[in-house]
Amino acid sequence: MHTSVAIIGGGLSGLSLARHLHRADIAFELFEARDRLGGRVFTQSGYDMGPSWFWPGQPRMAALVAELGLTVFEQFATGALSYETETGAVMRDMGFASMQGSLRLNGGKTGLIDGIAAQLPKERLHLAHPVTRIEPRRVIFEQGMCDADHIVLAIPPRVAAGLTFAPELPGTAQKALQDVPTWMGGHAKFVAIYDSPFWRKDGLSGDAMSRHGPLGEIHDASPSDGSQGALFGFLGVPAPHRAGQDAAIVEAAVAQLARIFGPKAATPITTHYQDWAYDPFTASVLDHAPLNHHPTYGMPHALNRLWDGHLHMCSTEVAPEMGGYLEGALAAAEHTARMLATATVS
Ligand SMILES: Cc1cc2nc3c(=O)[nH]c(=O)nc-3n(C[C@H](O)[C@H](O)[C@H](O)COP(=O)(O)OP(=O)(O)OC[C@H]3O[C@@H](n4cnc5c(N)ncnc54)[C@H](O)[C@@H]3O)c2cc1C
Repeated sequence: MHTSVAIIGGGLSGLSLARHLHRADIAFELFEARDRLGGRVFTQSGYDMGPSWFWPGQPRMAALVAELGLTVFEQFATGALSYETETGAVMRDMGFASMQGSLRLNGGKTGLIDGIAAQLPKERLHLAHPVTRIEPRRVIFEQGMCDADHIVLAIPPRVAAGLTFAPELPGTAQKALQDVPTWMGGHAKFVAIYDSPFWRKDGLSGDAMSRHGPLGEIHDASPSDGSQGALFGFLGVPAPHRAGQDAAIVEAAVAQLARIFGPKAATPITTHYQDWAYDPFTASVLDHAPLNHHPTYGMPHALNRLWDGHLHMCSTEVAPEMGGYLEGALAAAEHTARMLATATVS
């Protein structure tokens, strides 16, 4: 197999890059490790286990959503925020809504992925193709190899650091890959689904903060049509303490929702749990250390012009702006596409 550009990773950045290349008539092949596209964008039965929101002032997201004909609604935030103390005491009279004004998509964020993928030739999107080794102008995966004039790593830098490069990357580049935290890579998300958003009738927004856990931050995740109710939470328990504890965490999370939102919350129709920290195609063990702030992202100097400008990084973490976010994934793709268009691509 030979192509102009081999894209490794079928998350939002890789797919968006593929779309730019396709529109510019530049040949590409995309290799995705998982048996699904989307990467951190992952919607299970309509509920987002990765990103839930985008925000006003993110022009690429706004344009993509409009172009794909996706419908947007505001995060539900009417009513009181609840607060759970370290001892599990619940205060329900807090007025503050933490994610008011954030935007969700009907049907979940997978609409972005499905919409882009539908515009690309299916035979160029190779699912279940984990790339293991990269040589100059050659990508090697379990099933074979692909020669390419340019290779783009549309994967988190720390995941890229785990690949075999032959010849080895310069030490400064290898270190730069390891130094960039995967945004939200150390996190886990839990969703509980109910017949209806019953907490709203009690004057509760669904927002909660907890110092008791296991969920640290909780929000309403219900669909906009009210056909079901759902609450989601980010785990407050650090990754090293979550390993092998999925069943216990789910049980404790349901019990916590019942403490905060009342007995109806004890019997969800179903629950979903996704621990990103233990997914090797998203996070490395370095991501298990909690981040206290949003890192300053962007392309580290040591990752520019690798292998004479034939090896490129393109994930949200190296975006020229809005790094870490979905908007950043689109910005990274736009930037990489511009570079590839001016490079000699035959
Ligand atoms: C829990 C959570 C909540 C979030 N919330 C928000 C939010 O509300 N708003 C927001 O804007 N952003 C949010 N984010 C961040 C957002 O998900 C990312 O910015 C975005 O999805 C990154 O896209 P990407 O394509 O750069 O990377 P990824 O989505 O990580 O895509 C990389 C792809 O590469 C593949 N891959 C990895 N290794 C290999 C290999 N060896 N061979 C082939 N393929 C490989 C992976 O399977 C994956 O599909 C959240 C993330 C998480 C985890």
